[in-house]
Amino acid sequence: MSQTVVQKYGGSSVATPEKLKRVAELVVARRNQGFNLVVVVSAMGDATDELIEKANAITPVPDRREMDMLLTVGERISMALLAMAIRDLGHEAVSLTGSQSGIITTASHANARIMEVRPFRVQDELDAGRVVIVAGYQGVSYKREITTLGRGGSDTTAVALAAALDAQACEIYSDVDGVYTADPRVVPDAVPLASLSYQEMQALASAGAKVLNPQAVEFAKHRQIAIYARKTGSQAPGTVVRRDAANAPSAVRGIAHRTRVGRVRADEADLADVQAFLRALTPLGASPTDVTFEGPYRGAFRCMLPVDDVEDELRAAAKRAFGPTAYHDGSGTITLVGERVGEALPTALEVLPQHRIAVAQVFAGAIRVTLVVASDRVEDAARVLHESLDVAGVQA
Ligand code: ADP
Ligand code: ASP
Ligand code: MG
Repeated sequence: MSQTVVQKYGGSSVATPEKLKRVAELVVARRNQGFNLVVVVSAMGDATDELIEKANAITPVPDRREMDMLLTVGERISMALLAMAIRDLGHEAVSLTGSQSGIITTASHANARIMEVRPFRVQDELDAGRVVIVAGYQGVSYKREITTLGRGGSDTTAVALAAALDAQACEIYSDVDGVYTADPRVVPDAVPLASLSYQEMQALASAGAKVLNPQAVEFAKHRQIAIYARKTGSQAPGTVVRRDAANAPSAVRGIAHRTRVGRVRADEADLADVQAFLRALTPLGASPTDVTFEGPYRGAFRCMLPVDDVEDELRAAAKRAFGPTAYHDGSGTITLVGERVGEALPTALEVLPQHRIAVAQVFAGAIRVTLVVASDRVEDAARVLHESLDVAGVQA
């Protein structure tokens, strides 16, 4: 029986009919190496953002269920077109939605989590000799509602299918040669990393390095699936994310940034209000970081929130819980990740002020240090730190 490979092609790789045809050729080439192939696709180019704009043109507060019905269309367009392109090359291919592929999720619209994968239909199609194209970013809840997995969620679809099918490899293709030491669009000196541990990748992804989705990495870690991040159509080896990554000689493996985060600060917060606020975040798909509360019942509460598309809702939730002045915008974060990252902190705190970048707050975790700076200084801070900490120079 031949081995199964799961590939995922991101939005930029399928942005036009020409690019889809190119992907079809790459898929067929891999198939001709003798593998069973499952190919997960994202929506074409900016299709998801365009669908969100359409909804916002109808109403400022679209219903979350209907929003999921709308957004899943983006990936369905890609899957059908790719199946047609592969058939045109003389190979059998069939497209399946997340629901048809047996991706069962929680009921939480817009940020559902995969609970289970029942890939019977996918397996039947593979057994029949077809290339199976799966629409990423979507599933069906145990209440039989169509759900989406949060932005960048096609990565999670791919890893979950690779685990369920006991695949030989999970390959994530995008517009970059793997995971770099920093976002190459912002830090031109960034270099690709040959390998990373799950923990390091999770820390980078949760701090804003969108090359891989954090939930996908979490899933891969849990199921011990190696992820190969590569550039579509490139011969470069890319990055492998797995349990035993190379022993890093450097204190910092990588730098991630977020240009905009919300900061919540309430000096006299009641425990009940803190609870209510944290509960209100779940349906918004927002995970607070660096939460502190000085209890037992009343005291200072602080947290940070990645804002993405839901800033108005987050601001309103903070206002409801703690009053009109609790939510602060205008900040961003730089996160340094590495096993010995603490060693880099003194230099970071020295060079940023030298470049007139004020550090408002510092948070240190086991393998990461996060620095809060003004939004408009975040990208400069990433470049300054990448250079002064010699992140590119000392990688394995
Ligand atoms: P896709 O649409 O294929 O899923 P994404 O746009 O989600 O691709 O992710 C790829 C982008 O991630 C790159 O274009 C790059 O700008 C950004 N990125 C951020 N941090 C990193 C990093 N450390 N390494 C590589 N790319 C990164
Ligand atoms: N199309 C979705 C998004 O833009 C999912 C994905 O690309 O992974 O977030
Ligand atoms: Mg992505």
